[in-house]
Amino acid sequence: MSDPVNQKHTDIVVIGAGPAGLATAIAARTAGFKVLLADHAIPPIDKACGEGIMPDGLAALAALGVTVPAEKAYPFRGIRFVEGTTSVDAVFPKGVGYGVRRTVLHDLLTQKATEVGVEMRWGAHVSEIASNQVTIDGLPVSCQWIVGADGQASIVRQKIGIGRSHSEQRRFGFRQHYAVRPWTDCVEVYWSDQGQVYVTPVAQNEVCVALITADPHFRLNEIPSAFPELASRLAGALESTRPQGAITMTRRLDSVFEGNVALVGEASGSVDAITGEGMSLGFQQALSLVNAMRSGSLQPYDEAHREIGKNPRRMAKLMLMLGERPWLRHRALRALSSQPDLFAQMLSVHVGESRVRDFGIERALSFGWSMLTA
Ligand SMILES: Cc1cc2nc3c(=O)[nH]c(=O)nc-3n(C[C@H](O)[C@H](O)[C@H](O)COP(=O)(O)OP(=O)(O)OC[C@H]3O[C@@H](n4cnc5c(N)ncnc54)[C@H](O)[C@@H]3O)c2cc1C
Repeated sequence: MSDPVNQKHTDIVVIGAGPAGLATAIAARTAGFKVLLADHAIPPIDKACGEGIMPDGLAALAALGVTVPAEKAYPFRGIRFVEGTTSVDAVFPKGVGYGVRRTVLHDLLTQKATEVGVEMRWGAHVSEIASNQVTIDGLPVSCQWIVGADGQASIVRQKIGIGRSHSEQRRFGFRQHYAVRPWTDCVEVYWSDQGQVYVTPVAQNEVCVALITADPHFRLNEIPSAFPELASRLAGALESTRPQGAITMTRRLDSVFEGNVALVGEASGSVDAITGEGMSLGFQQALSLVNAMRSGSLQPYDEAHREIGKNPRRMAKLMLMLGERPWLRHRALRALSSQPDLFAQMLSVHVGESRVRDFGIERALSFGWSMLTA
């Protein structure tokens, strides 16, 4: 039994210090809560990622008081889809996105967490999670709230039994950096029957290449055969990191809290990596979760969480459908390349600047006609 006199107490224990956990810890500490953040890894924490932060994600970071210095990132103004000789691009309706190395982002978020006074434990072993108590490195810590920000395979979700999973679809993701001067100010998404590869500029002389595929045997070294137009861009460029892989998952939970325990980031469900929205969702969820904690109830967070994920989930569905149906994809890309303003409108919905219903029936019919005639 633990000694109550020596037992440590804090307001919030956050388990997992990836982008979502760090963002939650920063928001909570800034709101006046005492926060203990524990991660079993030791920095610098890296992860297979396309490393693009969309404008809505940068806005959420700014709301957390985190600015990414221009010299530590590379701005992109929009998104370009490419398949063979067909391509279409659009700029964001507002602001820019940033390509930022995951290790750089982790460092920036950790610095901010230190500055606001978050207590951080690295290489920590979280063994027990019970109502109002977490055991970290063998020592019990009592708290008012517990946050599971421990990624896709969340032990917090499993131990507390939060949320039934509604939809699950897995794909395989890999990333590698190449030392080459970015050739575009967009994130480029290359499509083929093998999956998608997207390229995010992350520095003056470096790009991040992320492959997402449903084929468990397909690897980055097969890019030249499936994505020849990208291969010609990368020809002669040196690989500046070793490849890293991760599963990307589409998962929705019917609830993201139980009692005083809440989930945030990928622990709370996720959208396929092709959306490029994973980190942005985590930052937005962190802000909503802390607002809910301030109100004393996690119920508003559950509702806000559903709303935050609505558009990215829709877009993920659409992109996966295009990925799986070559005939539809070829026609859709050709139709969009002849109506780039429609692509711009889709991008606007994707980054939360407009709603699906803003499309209007006339646009839908016109697009349908272009699809038939493309
Ligand atoms: C190939 C690929 C490309 C992607 N591209 C993009 C992109 O371009 N833009 C974008 O926004 N998103 C992208 N994503 C998604 C993005 O990587 C995730 O949304 C993001 O990492 C989720 O952050 P998180 O903090 O929820 O989880 P994670 O980043 O997984 O962090 C979880 C943390 O919890 C810790 N942890 C786990 N278990 C425990 C435990 N038991 N005890 C203590 N600590 C624990 C881990 O060490 C880790 O630090 C991509 C994903 C993939 C796979």
